[in-house]
Amino acid sequence: MADYIFNVARLLAQTSGPSRMVDVDAPARAVDVPELSGSIRGTAHLTRLSDAVLVTGQMRARALVPCARCTDDVEIELAFELDDQFVPRIDPVRGGLVDPGDRWQLDPGHNLDLSQVLAEGAISALPPRVLCAGPCEAPWDGPAASPPAVDPRLAPLERMRRQMLHKDDESHG
Ligand SMILES: [Zn+2]
Repeated sequence: MADYIFNVARLLAQTSGPSRMVDVDAPARAVDVPELSGSIRGTAHLTRLSDAVLVTGQMRARALVPCARCTDDVEIELAFELDDQFVPRIDPVRGGLVDPGDRWQLDPGHNLDLSQVLAEGAISALPPRVLCAGPCEAPWDGPAASPPAVDPRLAPLERMRRQMLHKDDESHG
């Protein structure tokens, strides 16, 4: 079984209290977050609550996101915590269907699939704006970007280019 799906049938058979530690290693393709450049790894604690399994733990992953200035890919480290409850579909003690409410559901075989909570955690850990380490410049037509300064050696050429463009405009108009 993949290292992000855990069978908790035995944990559910016990009464509230016991917990189990598992190593999580979810490949990027399993969590469907395009920015991820590697698997999500960490250690999770699965704790039996009276009516659910609580998953807690610290996860890490690497991601590639575009630099806000030059759009080159920047590799960053993501870190996020899990704190999610999974409920069985059928109440193991009383029988009958369980209403999950806002909690996650185990599959009918009592498998706890972390791929969705890992995807949500990774997406929420993505920073809104990343800048690369290099001395990058904004693209000329970039949003909210000031045009880069012209190298003094190129300034005369730049002036000529603008004059030529200006003349072109006049001839077309
Ligand atoms: Zn950059």
